[in-house]
Amino acid sequence: MPKSIAIYGSTGSIGTQALDVIEQHPDLFVAEVLTANNNEKLLIEQCKKFKPNIAIIANEEKYDAVNAALAPEGIKVFAGEKSLIEVAAGDTYDVLIAAIVGYAGLSSTLAAVEQGKTVGLANKETLVVAGDIVMAEVARKGANLIPVDSEHSAIFQCLVGENPADVSKVILTASGGPFRGKKPNFLVNVKKSHALQHPNWEMGAKITIDSASLMNKGLEMIEAKWLFNVKPEQIDVVVHPQSIIHSLVEFIDGSQKAQLGLPDMKLPIQYAMAYPQRISNDFPRFDIKKFESLTFEKPDIKTFRNLALAKDVMVKGGNAPCVLNAANEIVVEAFLNNSIGFLEMSDKIEACLEKIKFIDVPTLQDYKDTDKETRAYCSTLIKN
Ligand code: NAD
Ligand code: MG
Repeated sequence: MPKSIAIYGSTGSIGTQALDVIEQHPDLFVAEVLTANNNEKLLIEQCKKFKPNIAIIANEEKYDAVNAALAPEGIKVFAGEKSLIEVAAGDTYDVLIAAIVGYAGLSSTLAAVEQGKTVGLANKETLVVAGDIVMAEVARKGANLIPVDSEHSAIFQCLVGENPADVSKVILTASGGPFRGKKPNFLVNVKKSHALQHPNWEMGAKITIDSASLMNKGLEMIEAKWLFNVKPEQIDVVVHPQSIIHSLVEFIDGSQKAQLGLPDMKLPIQYAMAYPQRISNDFPRFDIKKFESLTFEKPDIKTFRNLALAKDVMVKGGNAPCVLNAANEIVVEAFLNNSIGFLEMSDKIEACLEKIKFIDVPTLQDYKDTDKETRAYCSTLIKN
């Protein structure tokens, strides 16, 4: 029996690549649920091709259009966040690929985890915002949380067969993004068209800006802390511009393991969908003989302050990462709208971290309130 897959955020970069994997392995996978926020055209197209049983459009205003197109195909259509949560908590699928971007992905991912489901996690913001609550539920309900983020998939793969207690540190690699080596006098004037040009990966707009500002690596440190139960001081970041080594693990005996491959998200997506099996494919492969050198350098945290801010909130804990995440979502949107400059993003995030009340042991409701308050406050910093 093929595994039935729910792709949350099927119209995005990860979502479309997850569908590519399904298309290449019709014997192993079948699409059961596809969801989108606004892009009803692509959702309808995908549903006509992959024939899932359920389609969900988050934007309720688009329900009629989607339903009119898909009801004749025998596809059940739902709308709104409530439906995303209900279907995630239901038993129609085997694996949920959590590929919604941002805080918006938290509620459905948590709903799946609370039912002890298997989740392929691309949505790192879920763990940044509420990692303590999500991981406690994973343990309590015996859910399987399999990372899709390439660095975390690499670490996960390095840990197969190992005793987690033998890990001394994890080393996340970062490409450095389009502005590697640049200084503030250059960054002050960069425009979104330049920031959106990532050297190695083609991704959604938000994560591409996060990669340019190194916030992505900051979010990934926090993601790693929760996924692998390591302390902040056990997490290192190294810039590796070729994006071939996807991350490394060092063990207590000093031995290190790394996972390598060409930068292609279909690999970690496929790994999460097929886990614990490995399946063959015809993707282009990394040929070590053709690479003259793989290089490594320290990240420049003085210039790319987001990485330092993310590290601070990771150490501080409580609702601080939730503040960082919410502020970041607002400033990235503002940068994409040309409302603020590239370097101003870190300034506003820092201002939010100073302003929003710290809560040491937040409840889920505290996280929701913190997210809301931070967005409201951060927006006032942009309008003025
Ligand atoms: P994207 O912008 O390309 O796609 C986002 C998807 O989420 C779309 O299908 C969109 O319809 C849906 N969505 C957006 N807002 C929503 C809302 N409010 N409610 C419901 N659905 C909503 O993003 P992406 O690049 O595919 O990234 C998705 C997630 O995966 C992010 O958390 C990102 O950090 C993570 N990730 C992406 C990559 C990559 O290569 N793209 C790599 C690693 C991790
Ligand atoms: Mg990554």
